[in-house]
Amino acid sequence: MLEKVLIANRGEIALRVLRSCKELGIKTVAVHSTADRDLMHVRLSDESVCIGPPSPADSYLNTPAIISAMELTDADAVHPGYGFLSENADFAEQVENSGFTFIGPTAETIRLMGDKVSAIEVMRGANVPTVPGSNGPIDNNSERTLSLAKEIGYPVIIKATAGGGGRGMRVVHNEAALLKAIFVTQTEAKSFFGNGVVYLEKFLENPRHVEIQVIGDGKGNALYLGDRDCSLQRRHQKVLEEAPAPGIPDKVRAKVAQTCIQACKNMNYRGAGTLEFLYEDEAFYFIEMNTRVQVEHPVTEMITGVDIVKEQLLIAGGGPLSYAQEDIHFRGHAFECRINAEDPVTFMPSPGKIKMFHPPGGNGVRVDSHLYSGYSVPPHYDSLIAKLICHANTREAALKRTQVALDEMLIDGIRCNIPLHQNLMRDAEFQKGCVNIHYLEKKLES
Ligand code: ADP
Repeated sequence: MLEKVLIANRGEIALRVLRSCKELGIKTVAVHSTADRDLMHVRLSDESVCIGPPSPADSYLNTPAIISAMELTDADAVHPGYGFLSENADFAEQVENSGFTFIGPTAETIRLMGDKVSAIEVMRGANVPTVPGSNGPIDNNSERTLSLAKEIGYPVIIKATAGGGGRGMRVVHNEAALLKAIFVTQTEAKSFFGNGVVYLEKFLENPRHVEIQVIGDGKGNALYLGDRDCSLQRRHQKVLEEAPAPGIPDKVRAKVAQTCIQACKNMNYRGAGTLEFLYEDEAFYFIEMNTRVQVEHPVTEMITGVDIVKEQLLIAGGGPLSYAQEDIHFRGHAFECRINAEDPVTFMPSPGKIKMFHPPGGNGVRVDSHLYSGYSVPPHYDSLIAKLICHANTREAALKRTQVALDEMLIDGIRCNIPLHQNLMRDAEFQKGCVNIHYLEKKLES
């Protein structure tokens, strides 16, 4: 069992990790930038260390400063949260080489899944369905590339193997544009990611984003924790998520779940992970795996009762999974609204002082947030300030519960996107379920 965990993150996820540590009797160390002294988890942690100035490069991404803080406080493990260093294989490796535990998969797994071409290869090996494509890097034989694309069928999407955050992708609609687009994407990928390798996939026109939560013990056992629909996105950023994904036939769901678990077992996957898929015409197509806890993990927790962060901590401490697959029962439906400090119409960030914060409550209502009245949202970081998660026995009841909770929620002093969520919860198409990844942007345009 871990004794002391350093939390290498900030905001709501740092507080979320701190809560699970406390429940397990694990001591906590908060690390923070000079802009983040007043964060709630810094106040609640057993110890805290300032690791640098506001700029993430100098603080939350500063590996030497974080490892020094672990040495200084005699922490035995680090929880990276999401974003920042959570999927950085070099960081995981340096943590382990310094004699500490990285709460997450091995550096080798992070590297394997961080490279999209190798991730697809691993998944194909376990019969996980992938997008029809080149199934490997494009070489410089133009004829071969052109005939490959023809076989896949236009439109195709060129993707950088090292790409991330919605960058390093280009859609091509016809043969005439292909070779030039490949060249441009390779050049960009080389300068953005230091790796110019690209591959081809069929471009799916109207898919949904459906992802599958897994958790492995690193010894060949893995649990399937169901799926989430995260199709409501703006600029590839998720806005609102739900679990389970609506309208998926049981047989289709069971089949893909079985392959995902097989893939995790094959790689002795350790920790929480998410396999992301595009879903179209009752078929799943794997696109990538995230080797960390996701922002939207609470909707899965609500429908399964599993505390995903607690499981991460227990596994990192060398323990077994607390559940067998038969113990996992899916119950009801949950939504998560990402509340951002931004203008609900222009989406411009809106940092500043919170005059008053009133989170909603009641049966099935959960708010994961580091906000408190008087807290100032700094301008240096991601604008996520709260997650409102509502659970009920049916999707319809969960929708209603989310509407009521949103109407009750009060964040005064800055602008935030509660009005956008209120609008979405009353949107007839969204209420029906199964909207695709373009739905939100189209709605915002009209
Ligand atoms: P990143 O690592 O940058 O997030 P992903 O591979 O997860 O990249 O893809 C990000 C988004 O790009 C997807 O959610 C989807 O909207 C779009 N996308 C990626 N691959 C395809 C595809 N084959 N067809 C259609 N859209 C795609």
